[in-house]
Amino acid sequence: AKAAGRNTYRFFSPEMLDQVLERAQLVDDLRKALHNKEFLLYYQPQVTDKGEVIGAEALVRWQHPEKGTVSPAAFIPIAEETDLILLLGQQVLETACQQLLDWSSRQGYEHLTLAVNISVRQFQQVDFVEQVTELIQRYAVNPKRLKLEVTESLLMDDEDILLTAEKMEQLQALGVGFSLDDFGTGYSSLTYLKKLPLDQLKIDKSFVSDLLIDAQDLDIARTIVSLGHSLNLAVIAEGVENQEQQERLAALGCFSYQGYFFGRPLPIEAFHQWMENL
Ligand code: C2E
Ligand code: CA
Ligand code: CA
Ligand code: CA
Repeated sequence: AKAAGRNTYRFFSPEMLDQVLERAQLVDDLRKALHNKEFLLYYQPQVTDKGEVIGAEALVRWQHPEKGTVSPAAFIPIAEETDLILLLGQQVLETACQQLLDWSSRQGYEHLTLAVNISVRQFQQVDFVEQVTELIQRYAVNPKRLKLEVTESLLMDDEDILLTAEKMEQLQALGVGFSLDDFGTGYSSLTYLKKLPLDQLKIDKSFVSDLLIDAQDLDIARTIVSLGHSLNLAVIAEGVENQEQQERLAALGCFSYQGYFFGRPLPIEAFHQWMENL
């Protein structure tokens, strides 16, 4: 009884109450931020071993009126616990489509693909395919320029995977591409690989960062590259921070990269500036 009493006391500890209140405040702030359109996209280049820019990944930032630029790590997990990720995801997709429309008539940008991170929660909406189709039509986007990144780490049961696969197939029929993000870090990589219609595998930056010093990470990267090749999937490495990593990846047969070595995520004007200075 004494132990239970202590647990009960612990449950109501002031620290925990603080955490609950803090979370509630963040959810409230997020809701207002969505309404006030405080989210914007940063663009990080994706390049080949020849130094050609093939596209960019759109990464969301919260332009907070007081806190300044807030990283997605601070709010995406909370947004995913609520329905706010659906509204946020919708805003992100719309901005991405607007950007693709702008690029379609901007010299030197017509060929770029734009990768957008999609939460599993978004796929679980019955009308996700319709939402994407509507945006593609509204902004006259060439579907081939749009790439959706799905993450394996979120918990999906077999039925979710099946439903997601069906939606992906419908969008893929339009020309939309799919990349499996953070590959190798989840629990069910091979199931995803088998059941989802993918176009690309993305080697997670956790394997890239120690590629040169950790033989195991090198083996994992090599395995992902050969898996991609044998399944006819493109392979891109993220988190490439120096030339040695890039060269080692090229030696493994990976010729597309994203990372600070090539370019950091930038607001759109700065991204365009970066492109002009190549
Ligand atoms: P992610 O999709 O794996 O994105 C890659 C992250 O690695 C980005 O962090 C990027 O800024 C960072 N990065 C890029 N190059 C390097 C490098 O060379 N070294 C290192 N150490 N890091 C690098 P960011 O922008 O903070 O985003 C974090 C995560 O938030 C993303 O991870 C993604 O899971 C999520 N996220 C971002 N934008 C969105 C979005 O619009 N929707 C959803 N659902 N999630 C998003
Ligand atoms: Ca991503
Ligand atoms: Ca990733
Ligand atoms: Ca990640």
